[in-house]
Amino acid sequence: MTTIIPKRNHLCLGRKMFSRVRPADFPKCVIRYQNSAWAKRLGFGDLLDDDAGWGDHFARFKPILGSFKAPLALAYHGHQFGTYNPDIGDGRGFLYAQIEDPKTGRLLDFGTKGSGLTPYSRTADGRLTLKGAVREILATEMLDALGVNTSKTFSVIETGEHLERHDEPSPTRSAVMVRLNHGHIRIGSFQRLAYQGDTETLEALLRYAAQTYYPQALDHQASREQLAADFVHVVGERMADLTASWMAAGFVHGVLNTDNFNISGESFDYGPWRFLPELIPSFTAAYFDHQGRYAYGRQPEASFWALCRLADSLIDLSDLEAMQKAVTGFQNRMNLAMVDSLCRRLGIDPLWTEASPMAEALFKAMRESACGFEAVFFDWYGGEASRHRAVEGKRASLYQSQNWAEAADLLKNAPKADRANPDHPYFSDDDPQTMLIDEVEAIWAPIVSQDDWSLLREKINAIHRMASAYGDVMIKPEAKVHG
Ligand code: AMP
Ligand code: MG
Repeated sequence: MTTIIPKRNHLCLGRKMFSRVRPADFPKCVIRYQNSAWAKRLGFGDLLDDDAGWGDHFARFKPILGSFKAPLALAYHGHQFGTYNPDIGDGRGFLYAQIEDPKTGRLLDFGTKGSGLTPYSRTADGRLTLKGAVREILATEMLDALGVNTSKTFSVIETGEHLERHDEPSPTRSAVMVRLNHGHIRIGSFQRLAYQGDTETLEALLRYAAQTYYPQALDHQASREQLAADFVHVVGERMADLTASWMAAGFVHGVLNTDNFNISGESFDYGPWRFLPELIPSFTAAYFDHQGRYAYGRQPEASFWALCRLADSLIDLSDLEAMQKAVTGFQNRMNLAMVDSLCRRLGIDPLWTEASPMAEALFKAMRESACGFEAVFFDWYGGEASRHRAVEGKRASLYQSQNWAEAADLLKNAPKADRANPDHPYFSDDDPQTMLIDEVEAIWAPIVSQDDWSLLREKINAIHRMASAYGDVMIKPEAKVHG
C-alpha cells in the first residue's frame, strides 16, 4: 500500500474542532462494495484481493500509515430545517484519514458513516443501516455518472448488527461505509465557532479552509476582512454550480441543512434523496419534510439560504456591507450554471447563442408535459445530431405536441458539444438509465429476502456504461460488488 500523506491536515485546526474517538467493535465484517478505481488510484489496489486487509482498514479502522493515530469525530452545529441546532456533530461518523490524491494533489478525506458512538451521538446508536449504505452507493454512482461534484462511496461493509429504525422494517441489517470527500468542513463548522464567539479559531478555520480548498482562487495575503468576504463569494460560486448540477440531474438531495453543505462545494451525505420521475418543482424527497422546504424547485433557494448563514457566521471577521456584496452574485451564478449544466447534460455547446432561451423553453416544456425527466436528456443528447432519433423515436409524439413546439425547435438546431458522442451504443437503447424510487426498492428487495446482490451489481454496471457514453463528464468508474 503506497499512499501520499499531506503535510497540512485537519489536525492543524487543533483540539477545539474534533474529539478523538474509537470505532465500534463489529460482530461481522462482510465486504459488500469496493470502489476499485479509487482504491487503485489512491494506492490501496493490493487490498482489493485481501479481504482481511480491507476489513482491517475500512471496518476496524487500523490507522493508515502516516495519517491520524485515532479517528477524529468532527465538531459542528447547523440549521436543521431552519432551526439552529448546537447539539450535532459527527454522531455516527468520523474522519478516519486524510491523504493526497496522486492525480490532482488535492487533499482527500476518508470519512465514515455508521462507525460507532461519538460524543455527538446524543441518544442515537451511531450506526448506519445496510439499506442506507446501499442507497448511498446508488446515489453517488448515479450522480458521479451525471457529472455532479459528489463524494464517492469507497467501501461498504456489512457489520452483523440488528438495528431498530422507524423508517425501515426492523430489526434491520447494519453496515459501515467509507466515503471519499474533498474535506468535511461544513457551513455548520463555521456556525459553531461563531455561536461560541471564538473569533480566533474561526479565523484559523477560515485561513485553513481557504488555503486547503481554494489555493488559487483566493488571495491568502489579503486582510482578514477581505479574505472572509472573498471566501463567501467563492463558496457561493461552487454552491451555485453544485445546485445547478443537481437540478440538471433531476436530483433532490432531501436534507439541505447547513451541516450538510461542504464548503468545498462537493455534495455528500445522502439520506432520503430521490431522482425526479418528471419535472415537478414541488417534488419532495424526505418524508419528514412536511413543508416541502427542500423540494426540487426550492433547492436554489435553500442553497442561497445556507450561503447566507455562512456569511452570518463570518460577519465578525468582516463587515455587513462586504458580506452582503459577497452573497449577491449567487443568483446570477445560479442562472449561468443552470444553462451550463443543462447544456452539458444535453451534449450541447454551452457557448451557443441560443443556449439560454433553450434552457428556459426546455424546462417550461418539461413542466407542462408529463415526460420522463431522464428521457428528455437521453433523446436529445447532442442536439441537432440527435434530431432524427428524438423526432422519430419512442417519444416522438411528445416532442411534436404543442407544449414542446418551442423547445423542440431550439433543440433541433442546437450544436453538439465537441466532446459529446451521441453515437455511443447507449443512445440506441429504448430508454435511459434512471434511478427512481421503485428501482431502488427493487434492488434492495432481493438483498433483504435472499442476500442476492446481483441486481445491485447489474445496476452499477449499467450506470458505468451510461457514464462511458457521457465521456469526460466524469472519471471512468469501476466498482466491485460482493455477495
Ligand atoms: P444527518 O441528517 O444524517 O445529516 O444527521 C444529522 C445529525 O444527526 C448529525 O449530527 C449526525 O451525526 C446525527 N445522526 C444521524 N443518525 C445518527 C445515528 N444513528 N447515531 C448517531 N447520530 C446520528
Ligand atoms: Mg449530515
